[in-house]
Amino acid sequence: MAPRVETNTIDGIDVLVAGGGIAATFAAIKAKEAGAKRVVQVDKGTVGKTGNSCFAAGVIHVCFPEDDLDDRVLRLTRAQGYLAQQDLIRDSLQESYSILEEMRRYGVRMVMNPDGTYRRMAGRGAYPIVMFYSTQLMDALRKYAQSIGVEQVNRVCLTELLTRNGEVSGAVGFHQHTGDFYVLRARATVLATGGTYYKGIHPGHRDCSGDGFGMAYRIGATLSGGEQNDQPANSMPARIDVGPGMNKWMGEGAFFINAKGERFMERYSPKLKERSGLPQITAFFCIETRMGRAPIYMDARHLGPEQMERLYQMLPLPQREFESVGVVKDGKFHKQVEFCPTGPTTRPGIVVDRSYSSRTPRLFAAGECCPPSAVVTGLAAAATSGARAGASAARCARDSDDAVDDNGLMLELRERTFAPLARPEGLEPEHVLLELQEAVIPYDVLLLRDGGRMEHSLKRVETIRDQDLPKLGAYDLHYLRLCHEIRNLTLTAELTLKAAIQRTETRNILREDYPFTDNVNWLKWIMVREEGQGQKWWTEDIPIERYPVAPKREVELAYLWRVPRDLGVVRIQDGRIQWVSEK
Ligand SMILES: Cc1cc2nc3c(=O)[nH]c(=O)nc-3n(C[C@H](O)[C@H](O)[C@H](O)COP(=O)(O)OP(=O)(O)OC[C@H]3O[C@@H](n4cnc5c(N)ncnc54)[C@H](O)[C@@H]3O)c2cc1C
Repeated sequence: MAPRVETNTIDGIDVLVAGGGIAATFAAIKAKEAGAKRVVQVDKGTVGKTGNSCFAAGVIHVCFPEDDLDDRVLRLTRAQGYLAQQDLIRDSLQESYSILEEMRRYGVRMVMNPDGTYRRMAGRGAYPIVMFYSTQLMDALRKYAQSIGVEQVNRVCLTELLTRNGEVSGAVGFHQHTGDFYVLRARATVLATGGTYYKGIHPGHRDCSGDGFGMAYRIGATLSGGEQNDQPANSMPARIDVGPGMNKWMGEGAFFINAKGERFMERYSPKLKERSGLPQITAFFCIETRMGRAPIYMDARHLGPEQMERLYQMLPLPQREFESVGVVKDGKFHKQVEFCPTGPTTRPGIVVDRSYSSRTPRLFAAGECCPPSAVVTGLAAAATSGARAGASAARCARDSDDAVDDNGLMLELRERTFAPLARPEGLEPEHVLLELQEAVIPYDVLLLRDGGRMEHSLKRVETIRDQDLPKLGAYDLHYLRLCHEIRNLTLTAELTLKAAIQRTETRNILREDYPFTDNVNWLKWIMVREEGQGQKWWTEDIPIERYPVAPKREVELAYLWRVPRDLGVVRIQDGRIQWVSEK
């Protein structure tokens, strides 16, 4: 199929927002409310029906006015192994309650008490959660955005950012049904294209393929955080296409057992058990697996009618899916459900400041497109960051001239966008995706780390980059999109592995060859940007003395290794982990 030549140009945009999830939709709404005249939101699929946000499992982590804000900052900072941008985390927590109220105002249905207050219930973590009726959240937000005049462009896959003299001036992409080339010129651009799970089995994320990371990297924006996350992976059913929803299942009393029938989380985390944070759950899943005690199952067979009714209210789709495969019958769990960690969720996000402005003029980022240090995973932080990014972008648009782009750039970007269509006999993107997944998803690459294993995976990724990507071919527009996704996923994997290899310590992700947390040398962010034909890597000190929460400046065995060491599962020998076989 020959590349299409029709070009659809949308000029005069004040704020262009990339993405159709909660961060993007809040960015669009807040840009409009802040006075931006023309706000255009572009999604690969349909706004509100793509990405993680529309699959979210019914809970929101909100800091209520009566909660202890300092304690919540402390807990999130610790969960991030002190790598958090604490000022941004604090802003987000502080704004989460008003964002919740706004969602209600926009028509999102929350679970309320009879007296009109929010119903807060136990979930994962120390603070109770707020619940919403899951599937309608993004529909309500999409409709509200439309009602205030946000223009939504669906089915356009953005491929590259436009620039002029080093400033971002919009983006280009192609329409997946018509094949038209889209040129969107904007005074300010917000990237909210989500993170990635490498298009694995995790439902609802398959539109998220690190496109924002790729687009930003290719114009020289600074990225960071590829090796870390507040949740190194989520955990979810291994063989049924159901999302994690762990907060709800675990909150209602479901628990995990290993292949020997042991409720192992009691051993590792006696207080919170299955309601521990995801770094603990992921780490202890990995350790049980390494010790030969997988598969791991969720057992919810003891849940009563009241708990099941709440699960049906909050998670109607997963519950129905469980029914369809006979796990749930007559409103009761009849079988245990095999669980596994998802692919790694670490993200080389776009570095942002408190206004969610990147280090490249006129470029903003929000949600999981930002590094985990700036935006913790979840709806609340995605929404608050989107709101701030949108308002900042509107201010930037007001103070900027109309967007123009570099001479000759457009032709090059169009050629780059459609190049795989000229090679229909080229390599199948699906095939390359599988290779990539095999290199990065196995639990002992990025969840249970070791320098040698990561180097080995990096070599596989570099081979894909050098030998496969140039040969990717597309029969049609669907495959064209896949080709772009694979290119961005390969870059994401490369940056992630390189950053993970550099961080020679265990912080909130296990590393066998460096089991210590090094608060003397590693209170640092690892940064990268493209420079010329190469990559520039450097570290920046976390301004920990300016922040309210700081660890002791010492090197100590990581808490994730202390527990298995005390349980006799591992010992430290020659500075690395030795696995102790069971007696
Ligand atoms: C199954 C599941 C359940 C979850 N449950 C909860 C929960 O109950 N509570 C909670 O707080 N968090 C939950 N999370 C996490 C939460 O959903 C995410 O943290 C949050 O939705 C991230 O929002 P986002 O807007 O940054 O990204 P996303 O919602 O992932 O949106 C990214 C958007 O970018 C678009 N996009 C990507 N590339 C392009 C491109 N090239 N061109 C145009 N558009 C593009 C995608 O189509 C998508 O619309 C869950 C996640 C999953 C996967």
